[in-house]
Amino acid sequence: MIDISKLTIVSAREALKKGEFTSRELTQACIDAIKSKDGEIHAFLEVFSNALAQADEADKQIKNGVDLPLLGIPVALKDNILVKGEKASAGSKILENFIAPYDSTATQKLQQAGAVIVGRTNCDEFAMGSSTENSAYGPTKNPLDTSRVPGGSSGGSAAAVAAGFVIAALGSDTGGSIRQPAAFCGIVGMKPTYGRVSRNGLIAMASSLDQIGPFTKTAEDAEIIYNVIKGQDRMDSTTLDGKTFPAHGHEGNSREKSSHLTIGVPRSFFESSLDKAVLENFNQAVKKFESLGYKTKDIELPTLKYSLAVYYILMPAEVSSNLARFDGVKYGLHVDGVNSIDDYFKTRGEGFGPETRRRVILGTYVLSSGYYDAYYGTAVNMKAAITKELREAFKDVDLILTPTTPTPAWKFGEKSDPLSMYLADIFTVPANISGCPSMSLPSGEVDGLPLGALLTADLGNETALFEAGKSFQG
Ligand code: GLN
Repeated sequence: MIDISKLTIVSAREALKKGEFTSRELTQACIDAIKSKDGEIHAFLEVFSNALAQADEADKQIKNGVDLPLLGIPVALKDNILVKGEKASAGSKILENFIAPYDSTATQKLQQAGAVIVGRTNCDEFAMGSSTENSAYGPTKNPLDTSRVPGGSSGGSAAAVAAGFVIAALGSDTGGSIRQPAAFCGIVGMKPTYGRVSRNGLIAMASSLDQIGPFTKTAEDAEIIYNVIKGQDRMDSTTLDGKTFPAHGHEGNSREKSSHLTIGVPRSFFESSLDKAVLENFNQAVKKFESLGYKTKDIELPTLKYSLAVYYILMPAEVSSNLARFDGVKYGLHVDGVNSIDDYFKTRGEGFGPETRRRVILGTYVLSSGYYDAYYGTAVNMKAAITKELREAFKDVDLILTPTTPTPAWKFGEKSDPLSMYLADIFTVPANISGCPSMSLPSGEVDGLPLGALLTADLGNETALFEAGKSFQG
């Protein structure tokens, strides 16, 4: 019996090369684990019927001595990342029977690297939420404590890795949807620099904030996936080549060795909002970095406290415009009304869940002519100010460290007031607003529940994230 919960990409690749097991055996072990435990967890919306055929193809290549970074490795994709010929519903009823007509660029790159795509994972509807409770298909449970949420919106992908159903998964992160569920499930989750991974074939939530990224057990594995999926893409004009940002994040960086990396800690941003145990866990992470030779220093980032307000204006504005395409004609669900406008209202009324409708209304409001300047215009200006402040900070430090979340995973139904759930995104949204790369690392437990330490680096400086992540995990 292969125990997937013990395998990393690195160790599984080693075992596949040595012939300790085949990709078919590994993939079958995933399917068996899903069959026996996913009834309770509900990480998957679907296991693809061709998973074993993909594994056989990988086994053929392994036999022929082909060496690819993910050859034979079972991975799962969030339900908003297109796989040609498979359903992609973004956790929504409106796309319940939508079949993807093409592969996303990230999907193609995974396939070219030899990955076996096992299935699609549950998520909050259109990636809107922090608990996976907004999925039209019912919530996913946290594999470490099934009375609690796995985080969201990519909760299915996080749970699939944490439960040992697959070795790695992809999610999307618009305001923390990879990093927060990674923290809640005790694994690594990473959001690349905006523009490093193509959004072609990712069902859009908020286009200026969305990025696809990996869920893995280790920072080393996250780096492998990042290197596979990154790159400029003619299908997404916001993608960047690797040279756009200097390799060390900013010009004039004279700190070269990892032992000299400096970590800035914006204590006044988070200290007052944390309870004692979470703060203690965070301080341990700081101490660990110090013991590994990192310099740490307190820094002030006074505009960061506006990030959440800015996010909850920009994001719904973009959601309202992106979701306008679901009109009952072009994609998915169609409900007949008395005339075409009635079709539109009926389709959207029945197809969208309450959180999606809330955000469309909020977004339409902040973009309306009377309020545009007061809300959207101000938020755009604040986005520039927050980005400037962060980029200034990275002249002095290589990385910024905060907790990933103010609390560990909460119980189902605990945050039924939407505002209380929004507040839980406070530490993850700055990286989306500024475009900076950011990664959550497992930082231990409080009352048996995992927490994450969140590292953020300057635009294009993924290298620093991976270096620090790898040394932190040892
Ligand atoms: N929790 C945040 C929200 O509800 C982030 C979502 C995301 O990153 N997709 O908007």
